[in-house]
Amino acid sequence: MSDIIRLLPESIASQIAAGEVVESPASAVKELLENAVDAGATSIQLEVLDGGKSLIHVLDNGCGMSPADARMAFEKHATSKIREAEDLYKLHTMGFRGEALAAISAISKIELRTRRVDQELGTHIQLSGSQVQSIEVCVMDVGTSLKVQDLFFNIPVRRRFLKDHKREFDKVLREFVHVALVNPHIAMTLHHDGALIKDLPVASLKGRVLGVVGQAFEKKLLTINYSSPMLSITGFVSQPQSIVKSGLKQYLFVNGRYMKHGYFAKAIELAYQDVASEGLRPSFFVYLTVPTDTIDVNISPTKTEVRFSEEKLIFDILKSLVREALSASASIPVIDFDPDKALDIPAYPGRQETLVMPELPSVVSPTAGPRGEATGGGGYARRVFMSGAGQKSSSPAASRYRASSMDINWDSLSEKFEAPPADEESSSLFAPRLTEAGGTLLPHGVFCGAEYPSVGQLIYKGRYIVTSLRRNLTIIDYRRAHERILFERYMLELGEGKVEVQQMMFPEPLELALDEAQALERLWADLTSLGFELERIDEQTYTLLQAPSAILEQATDLLRRLVAHCIETDEYNHDYLVRAMAMAMASGTARPYGQELSSEDVEALLAQLFATSDPNLTPNGKVIMTTFSEDFIDQRFG
Ligand code: ADP
Ligand code: MG
Repeated sequence: MSDIIRLLPESIASQIAAGEVVESPASAVKELLENAVDAGATSIQLEVLDGGKSLIHVLDNGCGMSPADARMAFEKHATSKIREAEDLYKLHTMGFRGEALAAISAISKIELRTRRVDQELGTHIQLSGSQVQSIEVCVMDVGTSLKVQDLFFNIPVRRRFLKDHKREFDKVLREFVHVALVNPHIAMTLHHDGALIKDLPVASLKGRVLGVVGQAFEKKLLTINYSSPMLSITGFVSQPQSIVKSGLKQYLFVNGRYMKHGYFAKAIELAYQDVASEGLRPSFFVYLTVPTDTIDVNISPTKTEVRFSEEKLIFDILKSLVREALSASASIPVIDFDPDKALDIPAYPGRQETLVMPELPSVVSPTAGPRGEATGGGGYARRVFMSGAGQKSSSPAASRYRASSMDINWDSLSEKFEAPPADEESSSLFAPRLTEAGGTLLPHGVFCGAEYPSVGQLIYKGRYIVTSLRRNLTIIDYRRAHERILFERYMLELGEGKVEVQQMMFPEPLELALDEAQALERLWADLTSLGFELERIDEQTYTLLQAPSAILEQATDLLRRLVAHCIETDEYNHDYLVRAMAMAMASGTARPYGQELSSEDVEALLAQLFATSDPNLTPNGKVIMTTFSEDFIDQRFG
């Protein structure tokens, strides 16, 4: 019996292999774009015809190739990027199989023009089904132009399996977007059948996200930021009220690459469960940076899936971070009575040495230092120029792993609970106030204590003070009460220019759109009087050097909000500015739920609450207290 096993001819074998690597025009697009990014381009233009089936053309201004490299690039396992097997596990460069160009050239007609900066002339190579047709010199700018024509021209079966132009183009667009979202420092354009589909100038990360998904998203995004030596997270999540059923945009990037990671997507979605109704899912653009040796990207052939060594921990951090952003956005109070589930973001344990991040110039969060060194909350130089003596903020070390300051120093607050001076007491404390129900209120201990023996107040669910006021039963949300008190205090302080400020040890860059920069200029004098200190870097870039202590960690966000409001209303309003600042400061420093309150604390809180202009409502209109009349209670007991 003769042997039946025969080796496939080399050309057929490479076509089969190519078919596995290049499954559609979109997969070729992905490889070519990633090569252009790897080549250090600052401008990449992609043009496709017929959904990429007839032509894919990528033009970049990157490093280019020498004549020898240009020829070598199409050989199997040709790569300038992997020197050792160990490099395979790193994710520093985008494409790293060393066979993308070989695979693509096996199943298409290729025209490459490329020139390096140190060479006068470029190289022009044409290939068809891996066969070199011509090599010539050419005149061109530095960079690379790569045209892929007639994909699968020599595998008709595969060509027939391609979808219609529209669906192939949708996939191409998706790959383009994935690359665009991690490379805001690269100007990118996309043309389909002659029409300009995307034109993305160099931008900040947020600017790029908006460029991709549309400026309408601007007000719908909350910023998240976290930085520790082993993990940094930055990005944007949608405001709960702007969650939509369709048009879902969920993007997760790991070390500068788009990745599918259902588990982390779940963490983000879980953070919304208290605020979104069933079935509504948030959009997000989340960028994780981790040391390359803590991930395994080789679990899927296209390397769009990744496994982390600390998956559960990252899950927890991500969830807390998003929850905190949601609560800080002030659109919803996040109330967690279980101290174990407090908003503190878990610390990422492990090595403490400085982490060297991959080259992701604009992706690393602005709060992280260059190359992702964790600056965390590690360094704020404090400068107090007002009376706030004795006030302490949480120590830099303690806040190091927190994304924002929901934690407050109790000591600093107790002084705010001191009884008001005597004259204030007589003028406002005893002044009867109208309640919502039309009755009058007097503070606990002042009135009711005189008539009945008091057994002190009850704190219900770590949130409500249950007490009696003028024989009525009253329930008071203590954090909201504190917010009202602080708001009025901050309004006064801001009015007198006496706000406590802190300097940023690591000043944060603030990149603005042109209209935002103009608005900022208009607000400049006011912002300065309110405790901000900014420095102009260029027309659209500023550095925040100092901000009021109470809002230090949300200072850039707040600045952006103020600027956005100025643009939106097209008015310049000092009162609005002061109010918005006071509200943010009050909400940032008000006593969190779940704390232990002594009866003196409660007494002082109530006394101060009733000295405010409106003890019933918070500055943004939320109910502070509710009252059940004596009759109502008596009736219940027949
Ligand atoms: P890999 O990207 O995994 O190294 P490829 O087959 O995609 O493998 O590319 C082979 C080599 O060709 C690259 O390592 C790089 O040296 C060179 N190359 C490809 N595209 C470009 C480009 N746009 N600019 C400069 N060099 C490129
Ligand atoms: Mg490549």
